[in-house]
Amino acid sequence: MHFVPTMGGLHHGHASLIAAASRPKAGAAETLVSVFVNPLQFGANEDFARYPRTLEADCELAELSGASAIWCPDEQQIYPGGMAESWRVQAPKSLQSRLCGSTRPGHFDGVVTVVCRLLALARPHQLFLGEKDWQQLTILRRMVVDLGLDVRVRSVPTVRDGDGLASSSRNRYLNAQERQQGVLFAQVLRDAKSAFLSSSMSPDPGQVRRHLEEGGLGVEYVDVVDPWLLQPSQPHEASINLLAAAVRCGSTRLIDHVFLMTRSPLVAIDGPAGAGKSTVTRAFAERLGLVYLDTGAMYRAVTWLVLEQGIDPADSAAVDAVLRDLEVELAPLQQGVQAVRVNGHEVTDAIRDPQVTASVSAVAAHACVRAALTAQQQRMGAAGGLVAEGRDIGTAVFPDAELKVFLTATPKERARRRALDLEERGHEVPALPDLEAQIVERDRLDSTREVAPLLQADDAVELISDGMSIDQVIDALEDLFRRRVAEEVWPTPA
Ligand code: C5P
Repeated sequence: MHFVPTMGGLHHGHASLIAAASRPKAGAAETLVSVFVNPLQFGANEDFARYPRTLEADCELAELSGASAIWCPDEQQIYPGGMAESWRVQAPKSLQSRLCGSTRPGHFDGVVTVVCRLLALARPHQLFLGEKDWQQLTILRRMVVDLGLDVRVRSVPTVRDGDGLASSSRNRYLNAQERQQGVLFAQVLRDAKSAFLSSSMSPDPGQVRRHLEEGGLGVEYVDVVDPWLLQPSQPHEASINLLAAAVRCGSTRLIDHVFLMTRSPLVAIDGPAGAGKSTVTRAFAERLGLVYLDTGAMYRAVTWLVLEQGIDPADSAAVDAVLRDLEVELAPLQQGVQAVRVNGHEVTDAIRDPQVTASVSAVAAHACVRAALTAQQQRMGAAGGLVAEGRDIGTAVFPDAELKVFLTATPKERARRRALDLEERGHEVPALPDLEAQIVERDRLDSTREVAPLLQADDAVELISDGMSIDQVIDALEDLFRRRVAEEVWPTPA
């Protein structure tokens, strides 16, 4: 079951959330929408009493948008001992020290507490949340990860009204003049993003604040943070930042944000031999609409050429000569297969030959080979929109990738998978202990070479895939990707 928790006052934004949860491709049999105005997340001077309560219209819109049921629990059901006696969940301080957390003390503790309780009662497989409340979305993602809750969090892009104002239940408080100011709010953030794109200089929050104030808005905060850590990032480290602000339009509080990014997203997937990187990276690329780059295939293609020309893989001068007119071409994926050509030869199958596998680590260790292929890989990824798998992607090729994963499995498991793969390809299958020894030896060579050895980047997430199905690994990659890359930045293809 898919679950869309709301506080009612439903609008286009909620409709798009419910529609996303109910799409056949989302895979749910049923979508449950809850309506509960949670007193715990309102401060003493906030708008709990006047928050829009429009249940009849909410039911209509929810049903029209694809909901199977609408659920309106009362306070007793959510907080059985009464509010004063209720259990509380607390969000970590670092996640609520900036943005809305800085001006609404206790707000996010109220949010995580109610969502925990709603999840316990509804037990959904997937939880759908809007990206408009990015801090809330991120804190709830963190809660699910850190408490190990058995639910996947999915996000849906911010929906805007025709005039550019982000849809919100609170927009109905605005009079005509305040609405104009709200439109200006969105416009100032869009302008800051355009200025960033043309100059690549991170916006000055003070200047954004002045522009908002000149438009008659009362500014609560303007901040630039890392979208996952919700803390300022070192400008040279991050290629994606969140510029977010909260303002007062009359007595109405509005929030909005833009993402600042210099290129499309990059994903780096590294790990040892036989960890299943190719299979899951290919499927992940297809699911997210990213270009797939198998850098191992490039090292294999050079190795094939070296062997074909009868060159000793250890002879670096001779290998260097091969690189002079090198042309490695990787075709776009077609039905899960990426055709490989080297200097005009079609080598898609030939580079998987055990002879190539046995020599590739020696060839890949030469500094000249690494320099040539790394430069080509960086050219291919310059505009982003790509997921690359290999050994040194997160450390040497794309150190500024938005997501770095170190995908691994125990040697025993990797040997078992490699045996299945060899059998499928019609090759002779060595005994499992021999295969395991070969894999361990290749890892040793890759990890101990001088230039760009196989190692886990400091900021990579380790994913150990023993006991996980391929789909589970792909889901995990998608969830990790979405920590920093919003649907509104890089939408999942329909
Ligand atoms: O992933 P695959 O098994 O095809 O990689 C073959 C070999 O290519 C690895 O064992 C490694 O020696 C080399 N390689 C590398 N750097 C990469 C990708 C592969 O050195 N980024």
